[in-house]
Parts: sequence; C-alpha cells; structure tokens
Amino acid sequence: MSSKLTVLIASLIFAVLFGAGGWFVLDQHEARFQTQLEGTASQLQGIYEATSRSLAYSAQALAFGLASDLDVQHLMDEATRVVRREGGGGGGVKAEILRDQLRYKMLSQWQNLSAQYSMSSMTFMLPDHTDVFLRMHEPEEFGDSLDAIPPFGEIKKDLLPRSGFQIGYTNAGIRAAVPILRPTADRGIRHVGTLELGINMSDESRSLSDQLTAGIAVLLNTQLVVNTMKERYLPAHALRPSCCALLVATRPEGVAWYESDLFTLTAVPENKLLHWGSRTFHAVSFPLRDWQGQADPEYPPVGTVLIWRDATARVNAYRADRHLIVNGFIVTYLLVLACVPMVLRLLHLEWGHQVKGHGAMINALARHNDLLIETIGEGVYGLDREGKITFINRAACNMLGLDNVDVIGKDPHPIFHHRKADGQPYPVETCPLMKAVRDGQQWEGEEWLIHQDGHGFPALMTVSPIYSHGIYEGSVTVFRNIARLRDRQDELTRLAITDSLTGIPNRRYFLELFESELARLRRHHSVASLLMADLDFFKRVNDRYGHAVGDLVLRHFVSVARSALRRTDIIGRLGGEEFAILLPGDGINGANELAERLRLLVESSPVRVDDTHVQITVSIGITELYPQDLSADAPLSRSDEALYAAKQAGRNRTEIYLAHWDESTIRGESAH
Ligand code: GH3
Ligand code: MG
Ligand code: MG
Repeated sequence: MSSKLTVLIASLIFAVLFGAGGWFVLDQHEARFQTQLEGTASQLQGIYEATSRSLAYSAQALAFGLASDLDVQHLMDEATRVVRREGGGGGGVKAEILRDQLRYKMLSQWQNLSAQYSMSSMTFMLPDHTDVFLRMHEPEEFGDSLDAIPPFGEIKKDLLPRSGFQIGYTNAGIRAAVPILRPTADRGIRHVGTLELGINMSDESRSLSDQLTAGIAVLLNTQLVVNTMKERYLPAHALRPSCCALLVATRPEGVAWYESDLFTLTAVPENKLLHWGSRTFHAVSFPLRDWQGQADPEYPPVGTVLIWRDATARVNAYRADRHLIVNGFIVTYLLVLACVPMVLRLLHLEWGHQVKGHGAMINALARHNDLLIETIGEGVYGLDREGKITFINRAACNMLGLDNVDVIGKDPHPIFHHRKADGQPYPVETCPLMKAVRDGQQWEGEEWLIHQDGHGFPALMTVSPIYSHGIYEGSVTVFRNIARLRDRQDELTRLAITDSLTGIPNRRYFLELFESELARLRRHHSVASLLMADLDFFKRVNDRYGHAVGDLVLRHFVSVARSALRRTDIIGRLGGEEFAILLPGDGINGANELAERLRLLVESSPVRVDDTHVQITVSIGITELYPQDLSADAPLSRSDEALYAAKQAGRNRTEIYLAHWDESTIRGESAH
C-alpha cells in the first residue's frame, strides 16, 4: 500500500473518530443548554400561574368585602323584590331608584378600585335570573341575563364564590364572583344577588412583566372572543382570524412576533429562541385555562400565555462554547493529522527492518531445508493430492537411477514400484504406498523398489500426509535402501546357525531343522532316520598333531560325509567331534547302508598333513524316527545309545538302536 493511501485512510479514520467525538460533546452541550432553558421555562410558567391565582383570590376577597356591606345587602334585597314585582330584566321606576341608590353607594369605591387595582368591571346581579341589575363600569347597560356564562348560574345553585380567568361581554381578564347574602329573622340567610369584579389583564401583566424583567403576552382563541365579547370591547390589536386575538403584549417585540405569526396558540408548554433586532429572546408559551377549564381538565384552553426574556448573553455564551468545542476538535484533529505521516514513517522504517530480518531468516531456513533434503542420506519425494510427484531429492534420484526433471508431475508407482521382490508385477490397486496417499494416512513399512537399470532393492518407507488448515494437501515419503542391512542381517543369521569351523548347521540350528522334519514326518507319515557320528580317539589326534590338525581333521570328516550324503540329507555339528545326520526318506535299512558307506569312506580317507597321513575312524549310532517322537530328545537319545554301544563294541562300527515298541526289527550290524 502506498504511503499516500495510508495517510489518506488514517486521515479519514481520524476524521470519523474526531467527528463522532465532536458531535457527542456538542450534543451534550446542546442538551445542557436545552435543560437550562426548560428549567427557566417551567419557573416562569410557575411564577405566572401563582401570580394569577393570587390575583384571583385577592379579587374574591375584595368582592366578599364589598358584598358584606349591610347597605349593599339591603338594597339588593329590595331590588330583588321590586324587580320581581315590576318585572322585566331591569325592573321599573322603583328599581331605577334602587339602582341609583346602589350606584351612589358604590361610586367612590368603584373609582378607587378602578384606579388602584385596574378594576375593569363591577357588576351586581339579581338572584333569580342572574339578570344584570347594575354595571358600575357601564351603568346604562343593565337588565340582560348572564345565564349563558356558566359560573354565574352555578353560584346561584351552591352560593360558593368563584374566581379565575374569564372571557366576558366587556372584558377578558381575572374575574371573581361572590354571592350577596342577607341574614334573615329566623337566623338563616337569603340570597339577594351576586357581585362580580373584573380585573384588567393589561396592567397586571405589565406589573408582572416588570417584576420578572420579561415580556408577557396573552393570546386568546379568536372564535371565543368573537362569540363572547361585545364588538366594542374586542382587543385593541387586529384579530388574526385563523389563529388568535392578542389580548395584551407588554413589549413591542411581542406585537411584532404576533403579527409575523411567530406567536400562535399552543396546547402544551413550548420553548423557543426568537430574535428582535440584535437581541435573542428565550420565549416560553403555555396554555391559558379559564375559570371553567380550571374546574374541568377536559375543557380546552382558551388561549396561550407567552413570556419572553432577553437571552442574548446566555445564547452568545452558549455559541462561544460551541465554537470553542468545534475549534478544539479541529485543531486537535489537525495536530494529530500532522503527526500521522511522521508516525507512519517511523512504523514503516521499523516494519521494513523487521520484514528484512524475517525475510533473511526465512531464506536461511528455506536454504537450510533444501540443503537438508538434498544432503540427507534418505530418499525423499513429495506427492500432491492426485499422487503425482511434486519434488524428489538427490538421494532418491541416486537410489532409483532417476533424473529429477523426468519424474516431476508423474505417478511414482509405474516408475519404481511396479514389481515385487520375487519378480511378480505389483498392481497399483494393492500398493500400500498409494493407498496411504489416497487415504491421507500415515504408513510405514518395507517395500521393494526398482532402480532404472532393472535391479531391485528393499526399502524401508514412511509415508506422512501433509495437512494445511485441516485440508489434505499431499504427502511426503522418506525411504532408505536397506539391502546392505538385509545382507548383514542374513550374515548374522547365518553365523548364528552355522558352525564356523566346518560351515555346517550348528547344534541349535540342526535341532530346529530336526524338529521341523519331525513335524513333516508326522504330517505326511513318511520315514526318516538319524545317525549320530563321533570320531574315534580324536583326543589323540590333537595330542599328537596339534589342535590345528585336529581342526583340519574335523573339516575333512565333514567334507567326506558330504560327499557320501544326498542333497536332501542334513548334517549338523552337535559339539566337539560329534555330528548328527538326518536322512529324510530313509528307513532303518537305508540309514544303515549309508552309515556303513560313510564309516568305510572315513576309514579309507586319511588326512594328509605335510608328509604324514592321519588315519581316522568314526563310530556311528543309528535310529529310525517315528510319528510317536514328539520332540528331538527321544531319537537323539536313542542314537546316542546306539553310538555308545558302537564305542563299547570297539569303535569304527555302526550300531542300531530302535524304540522299545520296535525291538523286533533290530538288526544290529557290525563292520567287523
Ligand atoms: P572316543 O573314541 O571315546 O570318542 O575318544 P576321544 O578321544 O575321541 O573322545 P574325547 O571325548 O575323550 O575327546 C574329544 C576331544 O576332542 C577332546 C577335545 O580336545 C577335542 N576337540 C573338541 N572340539 C575340538 C575342536 O574344535 N578342534 C580340535 N582340534 N579338537 C577338538
Ligand atoms: Mg566325542
Ligand atoms: Mg571321539
């Protein structure tokens, strides 16, 4: 990979890492800012609602104060009776007089309260139909019913005071309505009317706005305003039919936002940033519930309250922090990026160094392996999965008389493994080497390999499968020529079974041969005989001519005996100057004839040593073998007995000793 590409990839990876890190930190920062805004929003909403409630309670208390005036109670009691009598919403002449009296009674208080508490309405209603008896704010308007506005009807039923926001005929603001009650002679009370006070929202909002150093606006549902308020009392600002009516806005930016549709009604609290000139404001909006809405949560809000505060400094600080974070990440990213080529260069140098080292090591190992395979005494060749030769070393080529290039890619069996040691063809189907290769199994054994000049040799072979990641890839066969080893083994075997002086089987081997002849005899019910021959007075030969001549005499005897024996007869040296001769196929008569012939031959064949002739004779014991002879012991001891008898009888004789069950057939013979 080129270093430019590496730098590019590293830069991209770092860009992604730094981008993700930066995004995460910015997200956290933003979340913190939002949480702060939301905290402020709920604080402002809480303050506004608490202030409204306390204003409503104050209005209620004020109304109670006014309704507890005995004159007021008396006048309303009278008015109730008169209007009942005179009829009509506002009554007749008498009712007019009572209305005037009540107006004069309340005038100074009304003026006072209007000025001090921004009171916008004071209404006295009669108990029967909630007909308006007197409107202090509009004395000439009376007689109409307020039954359509639910709270007034409710007060008539339960005589409980009510207060809260209300959109009325002449005003939308805080209302408090209390019953006017008069004690009766029977210590009861009589409902003589209802007093309702209305407080202007504008002044209250302004004073709260100053206290909170925030702008406040109240939006009302256009439809409700239009349906309820008399036209001349509609809010001063233009109605936005599709949305809302602006009841009050304590600051000019509020009017501007309303006119640009940035303020709308909302059913849930909201929170946003708005701009005005170079300033940024945090605006909080939440639904406004009226008198009815407070009693019944299902009743929809009638408007929305908006409170906004200058948040320029806070937003600027937030933005500055944002820039700081972004710049911090960019600068760090650039610094890291600047370091990447340097680090890569260092890594590259180190890597190159290591690769060089490893390469040299691998080459040395490969050379060493090649050298090992080439110089190793063993023949080595590899086969692929199909059993074709992939490599063959020099030792293998030398042993098989092959040229490396001639056999690569070829099947080894027809080249050097096609014939068995006995010359028979070797079918590939029965070849254990190829079976091991086919099965991917380890195999070790001895096979007969053929050199290109035609001669074969025994080889000890090991086939090892090669697996790479669990998949069979082929095999390696290692072999060695064991012809010399075999020869040496044969020689050792020969030495172990042959008498070194005479070259005939020694006692152990003779007995082995004898045992197997006995077994054969039993199997085939054939006949055989055994001679036991011992040179006479041999000790004297040694004593007179020396041990070497003694040895010569022993070899001479064997040579004479061989000339007398057939190819199938077996002679062995049992020890010293004692020999045993096994005669397969000969019964006792044949054996006796042969023994006699041998005895005479020995007698007439002196050994010539320098100028002298060493005359020797031999005594021979003869016995026949029987199927009952389960081991060599019995016939050996019988022939020994016969030999002993020959010695006892004067030597240079043959004697027969048969088994006791065959005594009748004894025909002892003597040479003399
Ligand atoms: P006999 O007629 O009773 O058999 O008398 P002998 O002298 O032949 O028998 P003996 O058992 O008394 O002597 C055998 C001798 O054969 C003794 C031993 O030194 C000699 N002898 C045994 N093995 C060898 C050998 O390998 N070479 C030589 N030169 N002499 C041997
Ligand atoms: Mg002897
Ligand atoms: Mg002897």
